[in-house]
Formats: sequence, C-alpha cells, structure tokens
Amino acid sequence: MSTTAEELIATAQQAGISAAGASKFSLELNQDQQDVRDWVHGFAEGVVRPAAAEWDEREETPWPIIQEAAKIGLYGHEALAQFWFDESGLQMPIVNEELFWGDAGIGMSIMGTSLAVAAIFGQGAPEQMAEWIPQCFGTPEEPKVAAFCSSEPDAGSDVSAIRTAAKYDEAKDEWVLNGQKAWATNGGIANVHVVIASVDRELGARGHAAFVVPPGTKGCEQGAKVKKHGLRASHTADVHLDDCRVPGSCLLGGKEKLDERLARVREGGKGQSQAAMQTFETSRPTVGAQALGVARAAYEYALDYAKEREQFGRPIIENQAIAFTLANMKLEIDAARLLVWRAAWMGRNNVRFTSAEGSMSKLKAGQVAVWATERAIQILGGNGYTREYPVERMHRDAKIYDIFEGTAEIQQLVIARAISGVHIK
Ligand SMILES: Cc1cc2nc3c(=O)[nH]c(=O)nc-3n(C[C@H](O)[C@H](O)[C@H](O)COP(=O)(O)OP(=O)(O)OC[C@H]3O[C@@H](n4cnc5c(N)ncnc54)[C@H](O)[C@@H]3O)c2cc1C
Repeated sequence: MSTTAEELIATAQQAGISAAGASKFSLELNQDQQDVRDWVHGFAEGVVRPAAAEWDEREETPWPIIQEAAKIGLYGHEALAQFWFDESGLQMPIVNEELFWGDAGIGMSIMGTSLAVAAIFGQGAPEQMAEWIPQCFGTPEEPKVAAFCSSEPDAGSDVSAIRTAAKYDEAKDEWVLNGQKAWATNGGIANVHVVIASVDRELGARGHAAFVVPPGTKGCEQGAKVKKHGLRASHTADVHLDDCRVPGSCLLGGKEKLDERLARVREGGKGQSQAAMQTFETSRPTVGAQALGVARAAYEYALDYAKEREQFGRPIIENQAIAFTLANMKLEIDAARLLVWRAAWMGRNNVRFTSAEGSMSKLKAGQVAVWATERAIQILGGNGYTREYPVERMHRDAKIYDIFEGTAEIQQLVIARAISGVHIK
C-alpha cells in the first residue's frame, strides 16, 4: 500500500510536527557564515599559503602576517567576539578550518592567542575581560599575542600534578607565582600570560586558579624555545615564574569566589569539575576544525596532483588504488566535519554533552588529519616526501592534533568515562 505525500504531511500534523518546525533543521550555511568563510579563505589563499614554507623554515612568529590579519579585522577581540557569538556555533570552526587550510603554523600564530582569551572569558569577571582581552591582541598597528600556560614538565595530561604555586601576600594584596611552565604557545613573547597555578596542592586540580600576568611583569621570563617537528611558525617555549608578583586583581574571577569554591571543595563539595568539563568540550571542536583544515588542504592538493601526474600513459587517478584513497579521504574529512559541527552547535546552544561529543570531534579530526596527510604524501610519491611540495609540511603539522589540547588517548578516556559512567583509568 502506498502513501501519498499529503497523507504523510497529515499524519505528521496530527502528531504535532508542522512543516515549518521540520524545516528548522538545516546544515546549509547562512549568508553571513558563507561570507565570513569566503573572506577567511581569501586571506588563507592569498596571504597565508604563499608564506607557509618560508615561516616553517624560519621557525619564527610571522609578525607581518599577524599584522595583516589584524589590519583586515581577522585578528582582534572584535573579530573573535563576532565569531564566538554566532548562534549556530559554526562560525568558529568554519574560520579555523579555512585559516588552517592556508597553513597550520601561521594559523596557530594567529589563533594561539585565543587560548588565553578563552580562559579570561571563561573565568574572568566582566571588568577583567574588559581590561585584559584587548591587551591580548594589541592594536592593528602594533599587534600582540597572548599565552595560556598550564602544562609543566611533570604535568601534561595529568593537570592535577601542576606544581606552580600561587601564594597570597595579604599585606600587599598581591599574588606571588613560582614555578616552571612547559610548551606554552607564545610563551615569553606574549603581552599577556594566563598562568594556571595551585593555590592548595592537597586539592589537586580543584585547588587551581588562573592568573593574568600583565605585560612586563618582573619574574616572568621565557625559558628554552622548543624546536618542533611541525607547527614551526608558531612559537612554543618554557616560561619561568620566579617570585613573580601580580596584583590581587589579576586572579581571574576574584578572591572571594576562589575562597568560596575552595571552602566548598574542602567540605567535600563537587567543586567545578562539571563546569570545567563543559568548557573543554566546548573548545575542542574549534581545535578539531583546525585539524580538518590541514586534512582538507592535503586532500585537495593530492586530488589535483593525481589528475595531473601521468604514469603508464595515464593520469594516476585512473587507478582505483589512488581514486579510492581520495574517495576515502573526502569521506573521512566530511564525517569529521559533521562531528565538529555537531559539537560546536551543542556547545553554543548549551546542549549537555552526554557522550563527550566535543572530545569525539577533536579525536576524530586529529586522526583524520594525520591519516589523510600521510596518504597525500603517498599519492605524491617521491615529490610528497620533499619540501618542494606542501604535503610533507602538512603531515608534520597534522601530528600535533593527536597531542595538544588533550592527547588522543585522553580524548578516548573522556569519551569512555562519559559513555560508561565508570571511572576508567
Ligand atoms: C606545539 C605544542 C603546543 C602546546 N601549547 C600549549 C599551550 O599553549 N599551553 C599549555 O598549557 N600546553 C601546551 N602544550 C602542551 C600539551 O598540551 C601537552 O603536550 C599535552 O597535554 C600532553 O602532555 P605531555 O606532553 O606531558 O604528555 P604525557 O601526558 O606525558 O603523555 C605521554 C603519553 O602517555 C599517554 N597517557 C598519559 N596519561 C594517560 C592515561 N591516563 N591513559 C592513557 N594514556 C595516557 C598520552 O596520551 C601520551 O601518548 C603544547 C604542546 C605542544 C607540542
């Protein structure tokens, strides 16, 4: 028995589903989103991509490119706010995918500041946001960068092992920071450093607080600069905090709130682990989108190459081994993007992450980036292995997405705990 469209609509209406309601779901980008995507893509294609190899070799922060990004309004607190407040949540991943399509090292030198900004935005009082967020970026004429310093030599995945200590000097209303931070993106060259320090070590991660270290503060110095496998245009370094004194007002969220929270935790309360979890899940799709940009860049390059390169008298794409690889690359990239967009939408619309959907998106996108860039090298053969072609750099860059912002194993741990309710170790 067949059912007509009219009958289906009537049944749906009886069930309370209106045609208008049903049409609310859409994966089509609105005009604003398309415009911003095309604008960022234009910058990535015209400015970032041509400079990528040079800055990768120089292993230096590409200040002229950050300045150009600031001049066109792509780097700055207004831009970030505009991307963040898009109500679908998709604007941040779209911008990141396009920029990192251009180049991940330069992309990170532009987007690395947003890690510190996210911490100020997530934990700061309104007046702290107003004071510090613009200083993270500087001005278009004189752009600055910011650093988020959480990791330490003995505290990477295990954030609870942080040793950097924050002690309150009541007489001077100052906090005194002592410790060593590792791997900080923009560490030491930043105008503003946001430092995670322990106020009460016995409480582990729940005894941590975040502090702004203002520009030029004595006792905050860059340590060794790290020479890296990839992402080489982005500066990474240790940061030493040696009796580094910051005003009481630099404690994000303020002392009253910190004291209340610590008292709650000491009484056996839950602290903020749930809130912190929600924050991480919300930021992970943005990182996943960066990985997607790298994966897509490698895929597109390999697709074009496979159509041009001839062996055995025909373009190599006419071999199924090559064509199917490209088909799978496209499939995996699109699948990862759907996970990224879902998590970004959930985060922006305060939909509870029940299965660590943010971690899922970052994990999958990172894996796809590593795999797809490696396949791209294979498709380019000997050329793919040389620095004359960009896929070699893309592969080196992609690997970081298995490591920072929570390693692949830590993402799996978070997902496994979320779906099982079991405290898996
Ligand atoms: C280029 C770059 C930029 C960075 N930028 C910043 C930054 O701006 N700010 C910042 O604070 N940090 C930054 N980091 C640090 C980064 O976040 C850490 O490297 C990352 O969290 C992993 O920590 P780790 O290197 O100490 O590895 P470890 O924690 O020592 O892990 C080593 C291995 O053990 C595995 N492992 C650890 N624990 C478990 C477990 N429980 N179960 C299963 N496997 C486990 C890991 O998955 C990994 O494979 C950056 C790092 C790099 C390389």
